[in-house]
Amino acid sequence: MANDKLDNIAIIGGGLGGLLLAIFLADRNISSTVYESRFGEPPAYSGPVMLLPNGLRVLDKAGAYEQILAQGSLAPHNYSMNNSHEILDCRECGSIEKYGYVGLRIYRQRVINTFTEMARERNVTIVYGKKFSHIVAETDKNVTFAFADGDIQTHSLLVGSDGIHSIVREYVAPQTKLRFSGSLSILGFVPASAVHKPYPNYPLPAAVMGPTGNILFGWADADSGEYPLATNFAMEDLGRQGWEELQNDTPRLLSMMRKDYEKWNPMIQGILDNVKRESLFIWPFYTVPTLDSWKSDKGRVVILGDAAHAIPPQGGLGANLTFEDVESLARLIDASNRSSRSWTSCLEWWQAYRKSRMVGIAELAPKIMKRRQGEHDGDADYTWLYNYDVERDVNAWISKTT
Ligand SMILES: Cc1cc2nc3c(=O)[nH]c(=O)nc-3n(C[C@H](O)[C@H](O)[C@H](O)COP(=O)(O)OP(=O)(O)OC[C@H]3O[C@@H](n4cnc5c(N)ncnc54)[C@H](O)[C@@H]3O)c2cc1C
Repeated sequence: MANDKLDNIAIIGGGLGGLLLAIFLADRNISSTVYESRFGEPPAYSGPVMLLPNGLRVLDKAGAYEQILAQGSLAPHNYSMNNSHEILDCRECGSIEKYGYVGLRIYRQRVINTFTEMARERNVTIVYGKKFSHIVAETDKNVTFAFADGDIQTHSLLVGSDGIHSIVREYVAPQTKLRFSGSLSILGFVPASAVHKPYPNYPLPAAVMGPTGNILFGWADADSGEYPLATNFAMEDLGRQGWEELQNDTPRLLSMMRKDYEKWNPMIQGILDNVKRESLFIWPFYTVPTLDSWKSDKGRVVILGDAAHAIPPQGGLGANLTFEDVESLARLIDASNRSSRSWTSCLEWWQAYRKSRMVGIAELAPKIMKRRQGEHDGDADYTWLYNYDVERDVNAWISKTT
C-alpha cells in the first residue's frame, strides 16, 4: 500500500476514547471529525470513573492532566469492607513515588466536558446526532461509510470508538457476540447527608461485601452533595428489551436493591433508604470476547476502547486502557505520516502491542474480585499495570524499525 498521509480521520463516538483521540491527533496536525450519535446533551446523572496511573499518564501526555486533577479527588487506595465495617482489602491505586500518579475519582461527564472543550480549542469538528450505520466501501486509500440518516462520507481512516455495542465492530469482526458476565449493577446517587459513616475516617471508595452482593460507594466525591453508589448482583441475561424494561421500572430496581435490606449494616440501610429514585440506572456487565482482529484487512477501519475489548468492571480499567489505545494509535498515525513506514506495518504492530496488554488484564479482574472478598495472595505488584508507558514503547519500536 502506498503510504498516503493519514489526515481527515473519522472518529465514530464522542465518548472518552473518541474525543481524546481527536485531541492527540490535532496536536500532531492531523485533522479529524468526531461523529457522535447522542445529541450532545449532558445526562442528568453522570457516573463516576476511577482513573489510574497508566490512564493519568496518557492524560498528562495529552495536556489534560492538570485540568482533570483539579476536578476530581485523589484516591490512593480502593477499599473492600465487610458488613461489620472491617477492612478486607486495600488495593493500591497509585503512588507518586512508585508510578508518578495517584488514582483519581472523577465524574465521567467532567472528563467528557474537558475533552470536548480541548477538542474545540483545537478546531476539531464534533458532529452530534450522527449515528454511524455501515461501511459502504474500503480501498487502500480511504473508506466510505454511511450514517443512519443516509448521509455518506469518505475519510482516509475510520476509527470506531463507539463503545461496547459498537456497530463499526460488525465490519472488522463480524458476528461478534457479547458475553454476559452474569452480573448486574444498579447505580444511583444518595445525598451525602444520608451517609452515616460508623467512624469519621471510614475509608472511601469502598466496596462493602454483603450477604448476596456488594455495594460500592464513594467513587466520586460528595462535592455536589451526593455520593454515587452501585449495588451489584448475580443475574441472568434479560436481553436488550428486558434490560430496557428493567431500566424503566423504578419500583422493581428499588426492590432489587433492597433485597437483603435486613441483613445490611445501618450505614448501608440508610443509603438504601435515601437513594434518589430518579438517579437510578442499570449496567449489565457484558464483555467483548477476544477478537481476532481490531482492524480491517486494508487497514482503513480500526476499533479501539470498549468496542475492541470491553472487560468486566471490577478493576476500574476500561477507560484507562482506552486512553492507552488512543495515545498509541495517535503516535503511530503520526509516525506513519512522517516517514516512509507503511501504515499497515504500524497498524499491525499497534494491534499486537495492545492485544498483548489485554492478556495480563484478563487475568487481573478475577484476582481483584478475590481480593475484594478478602482472599489475598500476598501484596500484589501493580508496576506492570501502572508504569505502562505508551510513548516509551512506541518510540522504542520506531527506533528499532528505522
Ligand atoms: C457505570 C460505569 C462505570 C465505569 N467505571 C469505570 C472506572 O471506574 N474506570 C475505568 O477505567 N473505566 C470505567 N468504566 C468503563 C469506561 O467507561 C469505558 O471503558 C470507556 O468509556 C470506553 O471508552 P470508549 O470511547 O471506548 O466508549 P464510550 O466512552 O462508551 O463512548 C462511546 C461513544 O460512542 C457513541 N456511539 C455509540 N454508537 C454510535 C454510533 N453508531 N455512531 C456514533 N456514535 C456512537 C456513544 O454515544 C458514546 O458517546 C465504567 C463504565 C460504566 C458504564
